[in-house]
Formats: sequence, structure tokens, C-alpha cells
Amino acid sequence: MSEQTSERFVMPGELLGTAEEFVPGPGTYEDGGRVYAALLGHSHVDPAARAVSVQAVHGIPRIATGDLVYARVDELKSQMAICTILASATTRRSAPGVPEGTVHISRAKDGYTDSLADEFAPGDILLAEVIQGHPSIKLTTAPPELGVVAARCQSCHGMLSAGSKGLVCLRCGATERRKQSRSYGLLRPVDSAHGSPPH
Ligand SMILES: [Zn+2]
Repeated sequence: MSEQTSERFVMPGELLGTAEEFVPGPGTYEDGGRVYAALLGHSHVDPAARAVSVQAVHGIPRIATGDLVYARVDELKSQMAICTILASATTRRSAPGVPEGTVHISRAKDGYTDSLADEFAPGDILLAEVIQGHPSIKLTTAPPELGVVAARCQSCHGMLSAGSKGLVCLRCGATERRKQSRSYGLLRPVDSAHGSPPH
């Protein structure tokens, strides 16, 4: 195996080896007797087949401060809601590695919150802003645009619909309260060039 073809991160157009050494596999192309990467990704050599291929790395954005994300509430603790970050709200791409994020009780809404159970329930889908991306992901749902965007009834699991008196279960008629986003029920990408919430 030559230095050119050991497994590594490659750019499109990067030389992987010669057509004499390797059969061009998926994610590569041959040009003038040389094999190049066609994708951004990791190159792999199959010695038995004498083939080289490139497995794409999709352009999933790193989660960074200011990003808007969709997150599912998994668990409520006394001081924080523990969430799974599902996707970027701006690109709708799924988040890499299903990272965990937390909403501290002081960041759930503007003003004092007695209990996170008054604002969220497990299973709720939040639209949240990343206030810290590293080393742990911290989220806020305080601005009016942010908060719960989809939720289910805690007694019957029916979908809750936004009404004038809060959230109403479409199945059993129960009413529930959440820290609702203005865009509750409207799961759509947020119009923002920089990922910050619209004002
Ligand atoms: Zn219900």
C-alpha cells in the first residue's frame, strides 16, 4: 500500500493512486490513468479487490453558539431539561452523533420558573438556540420564538393543538401548558442567515 492510498480524509480531486494500482470504486473517478477522490470523505482501500473508494462525509454543520436546533425533551431534572438534539432548524440536517443538550431552568423562559415540569414534558419537541456548543451543548428557549413546537397530551398521547387558552388535546380535550414557541405547530425552517432567532 502506498502512502497515497492509506485510509485518510480526502478532498474532491485528491489523487488516490494510479489506475494500475487500483480499480476506481464508488466515490472516485479515473482520469488519465490516475484515480482521484470525487467526494469529500474518507478513502478506503480494499486490498483483495485492489479497489479504492471514498465514503462521503456529509456537510453536517457542527453545532455552534447561535445555531437554532430542534431538540426532543428526554428527561426533566430539577434544574435542567435533558434533550436530544435532532436537527439543525435552519438546514433541517440531522445532527451528527445524536448529541445531548440541556436547557437550564433559568433559560427555559424569560422570568422565574418554579418547575421545569410547568414548561416542558418528556417527548416535547423544542425549537432552541445553542448558547454553548462546546464542551457540552447548552440551549435556551427563553425568547418568544423559541420553546415547544410540538407536544403530546400527557393523559392520552394525542397531539396538542395551540389554542387561545394554551394547548388543547385534539383527542380528549385536555388542556396543558408549556413554554410554547410562537411557531408551535408550524415545524418549518427558520428564516435566518446566521442561525439566530428572528426578532
Ligand atoms: Zn388527550
